[in-house]
Formats: sequence, C-alpha cells, structure tokens
Amino acid sequence: MCVHTFEKLKITTSKMNLNRLLVLCLIVFVTVGNSFAQNHRNCGTMHYLEQQKSQDPGLELRMEQIETQTRQLISQGSEKSGMVVTIPVVFHVLYNNSALNIPDARILAQLDVLNKDFARLNADASNTPSIFQSVAANTNIQFCMAQRDPNGNPTNGIVRRSTTVSSFSSNNAMKFTAQGGSDAWNTTQYLNIWVCNLGGGLLGYAQFPGGAANTDGVVVLTESVGGPSAPGSAVPYHLGRTATHEVGHWLNLRHIWGDATCGSDLVSDTPTHNTSNGGCPAYPHYSTCTGTPIEMTMNYMDYTEDACMNIFTAGQSSRMNAAITASRSGLLTSLGCVPPNPVSCGTPSSLSATNVASTTATLNWAAVTGASSYNYRYKTTSSTTWTTASTNSTTVNISSLTASTAYEFQVQASCVGALGSFSASATFTTSSVVTSCGTPTNLAATNVASSSATLNWAAVTGASNYNYRYKTISATTWTTATTTSTTANISSLTASTAYEFQVQANCGGTLGTFSTSGTFTTLASTTCNDPFESNNTAGTAKVLTTSQLNTNLTATIGSSTDVDWYRFSTVSGATRVKVNLTTLPADYDIYLYANNGTTLLGSSELFGTASEQIIRNTNKTASYYIRVIGYQGAFSASSCYTLRISTSGTNWRMADEGQAMEVEAIDMSSVSISPNPTNGNTAFEFVSNASGSANVMITDMLGRVVYQNNAYQVSEGPNMIEQDMSNSSKGMHFIIVEVNGERKTGRFIVE
Ligand SMILES: [Zn+2]
Repeated sequence: MCVHTFEKLKITTSKMNLNRLLVLCLIVFVTVGNSFAQNHRNCGTMHYLEQQKSQDPGLELRMEQIETQTRQLISQGSEKSGMVVTIPVVFHVLYNNSALNIPDARILAQLDVLNKDFARLNADASNTPSIFQSVAANTNIQFCMAQRDPNGNPTNGIVRRSTTVSSFSSNNAMKFTAQGGSDAWNTTQYLNIWVCNLGGGLLGYAQFPGGAANTDGVVVLTESVGGPSAPGSAVPYHLGRTATHEVGHWLNLRHIWGDATCGSDLVSDTPTHNTSNGGCPAYPHYSTCTGTPIEMTMNYMDYTEDACMNIFTAGQSSRMNAAITASRSGLLTSLGCVPPNPVSCGTPSSLSATNVASTTATLNWAAVTGASSYNYRYKTTSSTTWTTASTNSTTVNISSLTASTAYEFQVQASCVGALGSFSASATFTTSSVVTSCGTPTNLAATNVASSSATLNWAAVTGASNYNYRYKTISATTWTTATTTSTTANISSLTASTAYEFQVQANCGGTLGTFSTSGTFTTLASTTCNDPFESNNTAGTAKVLTTSQLNTNLTATIGSSTDVDWYRFSTVSGATRVKVNLTTLPADYDIYLYANNGTTLLGSSELFGTASEQIIRNTNKTASYYIRVIGYQGAFSASSCYTLRISTSGTNWRMADEGQAMEVEAIDMSSVSISPNPTNGNTAFEFVSNASGSANVMITDMLGRVVYQNNAYQVSEGPNMIEQDMSNSSKGMHFIIVEVNGERKTGRFIVE
C-alpha cells in the first residue's frame, strides 16, 4: 500500500527529495481514513470482481448473459418504464470508535447526494462543459431511506453495529455479522450500503449485477460518507461522490476508461479515455486515443475528486435502468420505501379542567388506547401561540396562568410509531386573584384506629388545595402533607396516643392560616393473640378454668369458617350465668348449650357489631358450652372480640342489660308422669328452678280441662302433683305448667 501511494506521490511531487517522500508516505499510511493525499480515488470494484470470478466459476457466464440482456433491452428502447424508480437503501454503519459511528445527518446528506446526482439536480451540474450537456441525464433513479425492514417492522434505514474489527478489506467481512460486520438485508429488495473503515486506502467497492446474493451491495469508507450539508472527512473525497460512483457500479456501470488503455465502458455516449483521471483536471483534457476526444473527466465513473464530478450520461442511465429492469427487478416491487401500516392513534376525548384557580388548573382527558404519552397545549382563547408540553399521564397541573382569563387546551396522543390528532379545544376560565383565604373549620377525626385515622374538615371557599399537619400532642414537629380533598387518611400512627392536627387552605397560591388543632387518640394496638384455637368443634372446645370466668377473654374469628367453642362449669353458690360478647370487629353471634353441646339453651344474634348477651338464671350447677360464630362468614383476622363469662349467686337482671336472655324456670326434661299410660292415680313430677305461684292445668286432646290450679305453690327443686285420672276420657292428655310466664308441657295417655 505504501509503495502504491509512493508511486502516485512521485507523479505530482517531482521537486521533493527521496527522504521527504518517505516521510510523506509514512504520514499517508498512518493517517489513512483521515487524509487522502492520493491524487485519484481508489475504487476496489474491479479488483473485487476478479476475486469473485476466481471463487465463483459461474459468475463470468452470468455476467455475459446480463450483458446480452442489457444490450437487447437498450436496443429495443425498453430498458426503462419512464417512471421514477425509488430504491430503498439500508446503511450498515460499523464502528469500533465513536468517530466512525457517524451521525444520521451524514447518512441523510449522503442520500441527498445520491438523489441529486441521479436526478441531475446536483448544484454543480452547471459545471458540466457545454459539449457534454446534451448527453447529461436524469436517470429517473431515486433512493429512499428504508422505511420498513425485511420483517415488516418500521425502520429509519440505518443499522448501527459496534465491531471489534478496526479495519475492513474487500474480503466482504463487513457483510456478515459473524465476521464483525452486519448481515445484508434481502439484496433483491434493498440496496445495502456498508459504511466502515477500509484499509489499503480504499474508498469503496461495489458488486456488479450477477454476483452472490448475500454479498450484493456497496461498501464505502466511513470518511467518504456525507454531502455538502454534512461532509465527510476524506478530503477531497468527502462530498458523497464515492457512493454515487459505487452505486453506478452496482447498477452495472463500468469505469469510464473501461479499465484498459483506451478501453470501452460499454456506453456509446461517453468519450474514450486513455486511462483514469485523478485530481481535478483542467478542461479541456484531451485523450490520446483514436480521435483524441475531450475526456469527460467530470463523469461520476472517473477517478477525479468529488468536487470535480457532476455527470451521468444518457447511455449510462440506460445501462443502469436496464440493470434494474432485468437483474435487479426485485427493487421494482420492493415495499422497502413504504412505511408499515401505520399504527392508528386515537384522539383524546372528555377533556376537562379541574381545580381551576387564579393561576393554576388541572387538565384531564380520557386515555387513548395504545398511547405511550400525550402532547398537550394551552393558550388564552385570544392568543395565537400555544404553550406545549408532554406527559405520560392523563392529567396534568399547569400554572403561571393569568387570573380571570379564558383559556383553551388541546391534547394529542402519541402511540408507538404514530401520532394522533390534536383534540378539539376544551375551555376554562381562571378565577379572579384571591387576596385572602379562609381557615378550615369543623375539624374531626374519623375511622380512628390504632395506627390510622381519617382527618376531615369543612371546605374553604376558593381553596384549590389544603395543607394539613399532625403530630402527637407531646411532639414539637409536625408531619405535613397536601391534598385537594377535605379529607385525608393518615397512617403509621402510634397506638394509644393523643394526636392533634391542623389544616390550612391554599386559594390558588394565597395561603390561609392554619386552623386551631383538632385532636384524637388512637386505639390500643389491635394485635391480639388467639390462645384458644383450635376449638372449632364442641369436641375440641377449650375448657375454661374457674379463674378464666369473670374476666375478659380475647380471641379472633380468624376466617370465614372459624368457629370458637368454649366449655365451662358453674360451681355451687355461683350458678347464674351471664355471657357477654363485646368489641365485635364484625357481626358475631353467641350460643349457649347444655352440657352435651347439642341442646341449645339460648342465643344472642343481634345485628352488626352490637354486643351480644345471654343470661341464664338457675340455681343448679351445670356444665355449659359456648359457641361464637361470624354471621354469614363474618370475620376479622386482626381484631379480637372480647368474651366475658360472669357467674353470680343471684339472678342477673335482664332489664339492666337489655340484651338477649334465657331464664329457665322449669327443667321439663325432668318431668316424669307415672304410670303412663294410666287409668287411675297419676303422679306428675318436675323440677323447678324458681319458687312461687304456678298455673298447673291438665287437659284432654280436645282442650277440656280435667284439672286446674291457678295458684299452685311450686318450690325451688322437685315438685309433685297427684291426680286421679280414672274418670277422664281415654286418649292423649296434656299437663301444662306455667311459672313466671314460662309454659312447659308434658303429655301422657289415659286408657
Ligand atoms: Zn470504481
């Protein structure tokens, strides 16, 4: 490479001595890619073609067939349709340092150069000498940045890949991801342009039609990529003409000198060149070939500097269009320039302004499906200039508004890959300037629990929000927060502690004064043990000792299926029982059973969290079962109920308690009638738990009274009534005993 450069330098630097030439050679070698002192461009296309031919025995024949087809198409005048063909382009930017990762602007400038050069809209077209103006051509070939990738996804047509390869050569490594490059996109559908650092002073190389599909495309030196608006750094090959030249090859153009002395470029309207021209030859530059024509040194397919190139000819245009019509016809149907079906993005609706104050307001709208963010804009209705901003939310607070002014706002949804339309305007009018702001009143704490409470206060006219603060009464430091509501839930409080709180109104930036304190005291900690579980059945009822009577027991109905059973016994002298269930966290009920756990003696099933009570006044010692349940599955895993079983030697008074009760006056389970059946003297025995006057009655089945005593004196304990039944009718009879309003019935047969 160095020798190569040395030879070129020797041509133009005849005054330099050998030492100086060696130094220059070294500089060129070291700084390749940044400075192109070589006096003509170095295109690797023909060298690459020879490589490909040696590796691909069929290539030469295929290219001959393409050449035959090209001649036929051109001779028939059918090489182009007359329509502009737009070729989708993907740029593969390969970099192993940040300088090589060139910005989009350079790529877009390069695409612009291609489009202008191929359309003969290049600004330097006027530099084409007049004798060539008549053959200068708009090729009708254009280029777009690919808008969709081969998988149909949206793209900007730029693939950027970091690579560990610091310098590529014409061995195609840049065309394969596995070799530190980037795999080609479907080469029948896209023009692939690899942008990379090339060694050997190469500016670029292209593959002619007919070559292998997976290497098809154009390679250009990164520093050559750009255009007048964003030039590269490979001066004087920095204006994007390297790509123009290489794309010419890719569309089957040969070098203008035919890569031979006075060779043919297979185009009839270009003059025969001796060889390549470098630098920027003065016009006219005559050929020494037959006829000594003036050479078209400004043709894109010569080797001159970027600033000195400005023309494709009509003959070159025909060859390129023939290449597209025949061997590159896949480009004609490629959808690469067409963006994928756009994602539809709706228009926000339900616009409203809330919390409108003199200088602030909250804008709200309904979410749009698929929106990733929203652009909103607002202005006074008389203005023409919007204030615009973006948010991910469907609500936004705006400020610095003017008081007493009508505003309008609009919202636009942004979906991935699509932008919706701005909505129609919603309007609001800011309030007048507020100079005073009231003080909240009616402070109250509700829902006070052990660690949380709800603070409430009355609204203040004109308030846009409220600052509230709270602390334990003994503390000196407030905890402060803000809400737009007139209620605030606070938490993380300490149990069994007195708190105070104060509230201040904010009227659109004008603060009122803090109110006087409201106070509340948190409840005791609600954490409770449940020492009686498991006691879900009568058989597993927890036996309460005498010391556990007449004291508060706490436990939980911890789940919708939890049932708590207890068992206890009374002792002589304290046979009256009162069962209280209090501090109910949910709708619980209690049931009292006799000793076997199945005979219900009484129940209390009050609604809601009202306390429950059962009273049983009896003078007999007994064993009892208590069942506590949640009504219809009510439970609280965290809050305890309180169960208290009280015993007494004297009757519990129902009136004082006003709750459910059970008094057993007569134990009818003990009524015995003998003999039964009977037809003579009959003994009726029963046990009463109370003494006093009873009404005793014996009737037959038709209700006819056989015996009645309205003032039968029963005594506490066993009682016996004797009656002769010999004169009674035969059949079923009843004995009815009423004590203290309680009526019990027994039945027997008279024969
Ligand atoms: Zn070339």
